[in-house]
Amino acid sequence: MTLVGQSIEEFRGTVRAWLEANVPTSTDGLAPGELLDVAKRFQAGLYDAGLAGITWPAEFGGQGHTAAEQQALDEQAARFDLPTSPFRIGMGMCGPTLLDLGTPEQKARHIRPLLRGEEIWCQLFSEPGAGSDVASLQARASRDGDAWVVNGQKVWTSGAQWSDFGALLARTDPDVPKHRGLTMFIVDMHSPGVTVRPLRDMTGRAPFNEVYFDDVRLPADAVIGEVDAGWQAAVTMLGHERVSIGGSVRQRTDPLGFAGLVELARDKGCASDPVVRGELAQLYAAERALSLFNTRLQQEAAAGSPPGARGSVAKLAGAMVLWRAVQTAGQVAGPETVAWETDDARAGELATAINATPASSIAGGTNQVQRNIIGERILGLPKEPGSDRDIPFRELKVGTQRRS
Ligand SMILES: Cc1cc2nc3c(=O)[nH]c(=O)nc-3n(C[C@H](O)[C@H](O)[C@H](O)COP(=O)(O)OP(=O)(O)OC[C@H]3O[C@@H](n4cnc5c(N)ncnc54)[C@H](O)[C@@H]3O)c2cc1C
Repeated sequence: MTLVGQSIEEFRGTVRAWLEANVPTSTDGLAPGELLDVAKRFQAGLYDAGLAGITWPAEFGGQGHTAAEQQALDEQAARFDLPTSPFRIGMGMCGPTLLDLGTPEQKARHIRPLLRGEEIWCQLFSEPGAGSDVASLQARASRDGDAWVVNGQKVWTSGAQWSDFGALLARTDPDVPKHRGLTMFIVDMHSPGVTVRPLRDMTGRAPFNEVYFDDVRLPADAVIGEVDAGWQAAVTMLGHERVSIGGSVRQRTDPLGFAGLVELARDKGCASDPVVRGELAQLYAAERALSLFNTRLQQEAAAGSPPGARGSVAKLAGAMVLWRAVQTAGQVAGPETVAWETDDARAGELATAINATPASSIAGGTNQVQRNIIGERILGLPKEPGSDRDIPFRELKVGTQRRS
């Protein structure tokens, strides 16, 4: 299929027709492995139709279009339930970071398979002793000739269970202050010495994992950016992460989306209750404002002006909109949001979505951390005191070093 020379209207029509013909109608009852196969087939088809990596450079397999085409695609995608969640971290965070900082060889090797869904990526930053303060991490990458040897533990690694590659942040120099001795690496998740163990959250699902590295060898060309400049690489990726999370397209059947809650209110017979209508109107306004803000960030990013700290506004606002939706759901469904008949699948899905909502205020940096960033970098408030910023990492009482 060629999309070259299409107007935005024609492009929108092309996208819609393709999605109508190719989005799987139902994935209910499929085992996780079967779901992954469906997702991979769908993503490969999307790529082959010229609809993946819309604004990514054509020389590495992207489409080289503008933010207008991306927006048109997002609008159409919101009408469906795309099975693309396994690719979110690669597409939203690791791929854009590679495009910013990777070598031409890394981009040539990784971008196309990532866009086509052939290779899945995860982000290996957080550790048991380093979440908000990720610069305190302890996973160690030591030089061995030209290569590197990694030892340590990561935690909360979303999608590690099906990932082929990870963007790993590790300490390469413990003798300098914590932000200066880090390096970002590409790690092959199938390497000897990588162990992935699932972690269950309060929805009962296991979307994330702990990941252990025992003498995992990485080649010299696995470094993303410069050795010991991993903090700058991490800031680049976290910026992409915030925009990606804040701007993620809602699934059509999202139980906490405006459309889903209106439908629920109609079915419950409370759609004309003025309190419910007020809640729904406020939710609509918040969703719409966030969507317009995200469109603006995307357009600016595509025009070469990355959003910087405003990505934190998108991320924080996304979490706040979800909490507003939970409040609205409570007005509409009442006690059913916490206790429901076992055969009521919709109530079960709503309760699961509500149980997953607290994670939105933690993943990708907590609400408090986003507020700190907004305060310091947008509002010009005084910086948080950082008494440990100039002390060699080796001397800090962080993580397991606290015990030494
Ligand atoms: C669903 C989900 C998916 C995730 N996926 C990934 C992933 O794929 N890869 C990855 O690397 N990580 C992932 N994470 C981890 C996530 O980035 C961290 O959980 C997050 O950064 C918070 O770190 P923490 O859990 O260690 O909490 P802590 O940093 O210990 O924070 C505890 C509390 O203290 C507050 N706090 C901490 N510092 C400050 C401060 N300076 N000012 C004010 N308040 C502060 C926090 O807001 C929080 O309320 C995921 C987390 C979740 C929930």
